[in-house]
Formats: sequence, structure tokens, C-alpha cells
Amino acid sequence: MSFTPSLLPKLIETVTETIIKNAGEITALDQAIGDGDHVTNLQRGLTALMAQRSEISQLDWPAAWQKIGMTVMTSVGGASGSLYGTLFVAMSKSAAGKDLNVQSVAEAFAQAVEAVKHRGKSDVGEKTMLDVLVPVAKHLQDAAAVSLPLSALLEQTKQVAITGMESTRDMLATKGRASFLGERTRGHIDAGAMSSQLVICALVDVLLA
Ligand code: ADP
Ligand code: MG
Ligand code: MG
Repeated sequence: MSFTPSLLPKLIETVTETIIKNAGEITALDQAIGDGDHVTNLQRGLTALMAQRSEISQLDWPAAWQKIGMTVMTSVGGASGSLYGTLFVAMSKSAAGKDLNVQSVAEAFAQAVEAVKHRGKSDVGEKTMLDVLVPVAKHLQDAAAVSLPLSALLEQTKQVAITGMESTRDMLATKGRASFLGERTRGHIDAGAMSSQLVICALVDVLLA
């Protein structure tokens, strides 16, 4: 794979900017059907990652993903901290010792999303970040299987993430805090689906630049 961890500072900076830019909207979503702290939770993690960004950029991808996952788990808090942390640690585990290419990264991401499902005891259709992560994982695997050119794979990834986020609007939440509100959750996009969409689109934009 031609992308190296030297991209990590730029990736972390761009994700941070995106979350700051959209903070008002994400917070409003978590206030509507959660407890309103999703941006604060994410910002704790991003501040910790910003402080480590040059150090992490010296590692190889699996070691960097492991460190990112541990940092996210210990700094973010909330349901999203352990879930996003699990995602990165599981990616690291799956990728360790392998040649990294589109196929093995797609496989590692798919296994990581399985780990998130397991950790959250949840699946697609429950109005969570998984409604973005699961279709993105499937898209990456399908695109890798047909050797789709990288630029097309990345462009399509953004659209899949946005469609996944939008799909949560009319869902009934059955996991996390939002599940306490039952039918009142319909009509609101899930905050974690929005943050994962934003993170994925920001990462893709850096990789396409
Ligand atoms: P908390 O709900 O503890 O305040 P956050 O606000 O940081 O944590 O994160 C909430 C987001 O986490 C939700 O919007 C949802 O996307 C995701 N989430 C919560 N519980 C689960 C779960 N069991 N499985 C998958 N995602 C979940
Ligand atoms: Mg919350
Ligand atoms: Mg909370």
C-alpha cells in the first residue's frame, strides 16, 4: 500500500477540524435522543491523539492502530469510546504481520466492525454507528474483490457512509441511551452515525488529496 503512517498527523488534524466544524449539529443530535456529550467525548480523544500524532506517525500501521485504539479507549469515555477504541485495536490485530494492501485492509476493517458489533451487542438496523460502519466494511470488501481503482473505491466510500448515516433517521433505536426513548427516536439521525460518517469522509478526503 502506498499510504504510510506519515499521513497520520494530517489525518488526525483533518478529523479534528471536521468534528469542530460540525460540533453544533452532532451535539444537537445527541441532545435530541442521547445525553448531549458525544462531541465532548470525541474531543477528549482527539486532543489526546493530537498530542501523540508525530509519535504515532513513526510506527507501522498495525502498531499505530493499536496505540490509537488504546488512546481512544482510555480518553474518550461514553459508549462511543470503547466502541471506536475496539475498532482500532481489532484492526491492528487483524492486520499484524500481513502485507498491507486494499484487500487486507478491507479484511481488517471488516473484522474490526465485527468486533464492534460484539462489544456493543448490536448490529446494523439499531440506529447506531454500525449503520455506517457495516455498509462501509461491505463496500470495501466488495470493491477490493473486483480490484476497483482506489480513487473510485474512496469516492464511493463517502457516498456509502452518507447513505448509512441517513438510514438511521427513520430507525427505532434499540441500543445505547437512545433506546430509552423508543418511538421518539424516529426522525433524528444518530449522533454516532453522524460522527463516523464525518470521520470516514475526512479520512477519505486526505487520502484522495
Ligand atoms: P454515551 O451514549 O455513553 O453518552 P456517546 O454519546 O459518546 O456515548 O456515543 C453515543 C453513540 O454511540 C450513539 O450515538 C451510537 O452511535 C453509539 N452506540 C451506543 N451504544 C451502542 C451499541 N451498543 N452499539 C453500537 N453503537 C452504540
Ligand atoms: Mg452521549
Ligand atoms: Mg454520555
